[in-house]
Amino acid sequence: MTCHTSGDLQEIVDEVVPLTNDGEVADYIPALAEVNKHDLSVAVYNVRDNTCIYAGDYQKKFTLQSISKVLVLALAIQDRGYGYVFDRVGMEPTGDPFNSISKLETSVPSKPLNPMINAGALAVTNMIKGDSALERWSRIRDFVQRLASDKNVTCDESVAKSEFETSCLNRALCYFMKQHGVIEGNIEELMDIYTKQCAIEMSCFDLARIGAVFALDGKDPETGKEIIPKGIARICKTFMVTCGMYNASGEFAIKVGIPAKSGVSGGILGVVPERCGVGIFGPSLDKRGNSIAGLKLLEILADKNNFSIF
Ligand code: GLN
Repeated sequence: MTCHTSGDLQEIVDEVVPLTNDGEVADYIPALAEVNKHDLSVAVYNVRDNTCIYAGDYQKKFTLQSISKVLVLALAIQDRGYGYVFDRVGMEPTGDPFNSISKLETSVPSKPLNPMINAGALAVTNMIKGDSALERWSRIRDFVQRLASDKNVTCDESVAKSEFETSCLNRALCYFMKQHGVIEGNIEELMDIYTKQCAIEMSCFDLARIGAVFALDGKDPETGKEIIPKGIARICKTFMVTCGMYNASGEFAIKVGIPAKSGVSGGILGVVPERCGVGIFGPSLDKRGNSIAGLKLLEILADKNNFSIF
């Protein structure tokens, strides 16, 4: 695998970086407010020849936040099977913000609409197998290490702690779902695992590498070994298209047209089937919680390279 800077990518970064002025970093998780909002980096991992190009500070680390939802979903379906997972979590997009509680009460039967909103993701994390919270968290971390092909990937304890200590709304979602039998077990343990999975830290290069695995339907781009069964990778990519960019997923499908998942840290994971994985970090967010410059960067990149799957 070779990796080098790209003048073409840097030109796009330079063009869109002024947009970082128009957004804000997430501050409802106190530790996330400490980043520089003008950061912008991108990496593109080409699965056809295992080369990677990048622009910006491609080694700068950030936490996955909601991007972890799609990865943990892949592990949960492997652990429990399709029937068990989708008996408890729906498959429909929602026009509500990612942390909304409202549909939980009005949906009949009461189950989260999809695994990409917080309620659905908490339910999915609750499904990960293991005899203890530590074992369940370790299995998630090990799985992400395999996807990134990096044994050093782990969580940023201070970001995890910062979210753990302030997550009243996510706890409320958990207790509501426990009441309705969607989840079981100890909520504090679940919050511990969930905040750690959200705080998994990596660079845009690692993220592009994970995108490459999805671009190959779950196969490791270097060894060809299956990390995620093809059918499960396909389900994950479909959720990325329908719900990956929160309540901006429809507009994103029109403007960019690829499976993608964003997080409030400003990360975006993009997947161009059979072609490449894309990792972006730009912590200045728009009103819906997506990286404001990252979105534009991806739009330009997709347009120039004909990425849209539609
Ligand atoms: N850890 C965050 C939360 O649960 C993830 C949200 C996000 O990235 N949209 O609020």
